[in-house]
Amino acid sequence: MVSAIRDQVQAEREGEVAGDDARRDRVEARLRSSSAPRLRRVINATGVILHTNLGRAPLSRAAIEALSIAAGYSNLELDLESGRRGERNDLIGPMLTSLFSSEAGLAVNNNAAAVLLALTALCKGREVIVSRGQLVEIGGSFRMPDVMRLSGARMVEVGTTNRTRARDYEDAFTPRTAAVLRVHTSNYRVSGFTEAVPLAELAQLAHGHGALLIDDLGSGAIEAVADEPTIAESVPHSDVVTFSGDKLLGGPQAGIALGSTAVIRKLARHPLARAVRIDKLTLAALEATLRQRLTGHGDDIPVQRMLDVKPAEIRRRAAMWSVKLEERGVPARLVESESAAGGGSLPGQGLPTVLLALAGPASRLANALRHGEPPVLARIEDRACCIDARTVLKGEDEALIDAIEGAFRAVTP
Ligand SMILES: *Cc1c(COP(=O)(O)O)cnc(C)c1O
Repeated sequence: MVSAIRDQVQAEREGEVAGDDARRDRVEARLRSSSAPRLRRVINATGVILHTNLGRAPLSRAAIEALSIAAGYSNLELDLESGRRGERNDLIGPMLTSLFSSEAGLAVNNNAAAVLLALTALCKGREVIVSRGQLVEIGGSFRMPDVMRLSGARMVEVGTTNRTRARDYEDAFTPRTAAVLRVHTSNYRVSGFTEAVPLAELAQLAHGHGALLIDDLGSGAIEAVADEPTIAESVPHSDVVTFSGDKLLGGPQAGIALGSTAVIRKLARHPLARAVRIDKLTLAALEATLRQRLTGHGDDIPVQRMLDVKPAEIRRRAAMWSVKLEERGVPARLVESESAAGGGSLPGQGLPTVLLALAGPASRLANALRHGEPPVLARIEDRACCIDARTVLKGEDEALIDAIEGAFRAVTP
């Protein structure tokens, strides 16, 4: 209250003119906006499924319900059968095992943590061989050379940006080699004159030299999409496979590490594991998401649905919106385009979509939409403000139409 008044006084000192009523209104408005929650639901009409700025994967209904179970008291670390102390990871370990056919699995805070933990627990003070073509940076803060340094492992770079051969790896092994690391180049593609060693061969090389193979998949594709490496392809060859929970899996922010019982135990018992352990709310949402995948209900996971939805269905939905908008005097047309998986998944692999292109000044419309309630994030394409139905969640249709109408009225005289 005091600071709202102070801000108003300051504004008037700086030249704002206000009568008594206006002054009271403005103080009230300041008060309202300062006590309103800062984190708000938004409608994602960008067509980018795993939108980093919008929280990556939207959770499934089941995952959202699971959050409320974990919010109270729960058997998070208690074996109800015996009454003895349990391990939070035991709640999902068996599910990871059956879903991905690995011997054991562990979930931590995020994939960056999973990679850091694997490198620290298994390679600290020793050498890790990695191709120069795979020294990725993800989202501005996850840079493989930095993570490596942090883990205490010494990075041995081999090959060139576009080509790394078996021979390059071969020459780099020393008695100090702990592992070969493969990093999936999630958010870019090296195309043209390229060469990389297939995973099976990389595994043979590593194991032939008594080293481990660590595979950072990043996106963690469950099924074959484009040329994204799948989890199932990696598990038989790798000693540790890591990927994110909130990319193609479609769950909460988490990092999953799969591997043999011995290797996963090493990770779980390392002191760093405690610092990067998975939170109870996340664990609950992850369990629910994994269960949906395990029981053949993957279609109920929004990310999966958005990846699978057919262009004809998107067209139907967009056409329905355009009719409704037309009735309200808001002109729009349908245009064919592409959506993106996003989140560093399937780079260069557009998903065919149908956009609703709004008539009117594109950037002013997009601005007005973003300032609406709920805020709508659109995308500008060919100088039109466009709505991609692919990423608009079920049940958001009415709110979206209202928001578009509101934005249209705000920017057209
Ligand atoms: C996304 C990604 C990461 C980081 O994962 P977070 O879950 O965001 O921590 C690490 N490695 C690769 C290859 C990735 O694609």
